[in-house]
Amino acid sequence: MNIGFVGLGVMGSRMAGHLLAKGHSLIVYNRTAEKTLPLKEKGAHVAKSLEELAANCDLIFVCVSRTEDVREVIEGMYLHAKEGTLFVDHSTIEPSAAKDIHRRLSEKGLRFMDCPLTGGEKGAIEGTLTIFCGGDESDFLFAKPYMESYGKLIRLVGPVGSGQLMKMANQIAVSLTVLSMAECLVFCEKSGVDLEDAIELIGSGAGGSWSLSNYGPKVVAKDFSPGFSVSLQQKDLVYALRTAREIGVSLLGTALVHQLFAALENAGRGEDATPALYDVVKDLSGG
Ligand code: NAP
Repeated sequence: MNIGFVGLGVMGSRMAGHLLAKGHSLIVYNRTAEKTLPLKEKGAHVAKSLEELAANCDLIFVCVSRTEDVREVIEGMYLHAKEGTLFVDHSTIEPSAAKDIHRRLSEKGLRFMDCPLTGGEKGAIEGTLTIFCGGDESDFLFAKPYMESYGKLIRLVGPVGSGQLMKMANQIAVSLTVLSMAECLVFCEKSGVDLEDAIELIGSGAGGSWSLSNYGPKVVAKDFSPGFSVSLQQKDLVYALRTAREIGVSLLGTALVHQLFAALENAGRGEDATPALYDVVKDLSGG
């Protein structure tokens, strides 16, 4: 069986690499063709177009950026895919769009699941991602063994759209812990508390978080290379705030973090990794 992978960015390149390492027959496509070369060297077949990939695969993973990008790549494939092909979208997009894409593909006899990820670049490199899956149980059972190449905790959380709802909830939680990490470390720095001590000691107790343990050392090293970029985080927060409005939930903290990240975007730092929020809090504290 041929497996397709579309979108070889920070996440997709690593996930596709794990599929290859498990010995699966993989066809890849990336808009910027050079990014396919490392996978070609490891044995992947490189499709010249989305059409070529779609016509030759039974299971197609997608990991691109935004809602409109997923729509665009699906649009490039769905008329050429074999009946019954399963599309698994790992991108973070709006839940309502996932349902819409599913409806459109179903009309053509194609299958679709929304399966966004958490665990970051590190999880993609180590093959330890958590994957929130929305879709039919039979499709989930079909795709799960392949997702196990790069995922550790993989769960069906409900029908199509549910994976993205879980991911929105995840982004609400994550963005607030990035702010908590930033405020904690600016406080330490200005008060003369050693940052590395703080990361270790606070991280071992109730004040600990994934952001403090993983992003704290990046703050100390002033390493804000992506990772997970501010612009991708902002995209997710827009989706979360829009979804919250649809379902009638007030997200005061999330809206605040969204505005603080906007300060980085306005300073031309949208491609920095999200722990750069530290610099915003520091500027607000007199630099
Ligand atoms: P990335 O490094 O920016 O890569 C995006 C990939 O999508 C690139 O291969 C890009 O192609 C392709 N792409 C984007 N728009 C496209 C379009 N219209 N047509 C064709 N290809 C297109 O992003 P990433 O960090 O891998 O993230 C991918 C997805 O996973 C996003 O939805 C993100 O929110 C989510 N995610 C990311 C992380 C993380 O830590 N990075 C964690 C969890 C979830 P080019 O090479 O041509 O630009």
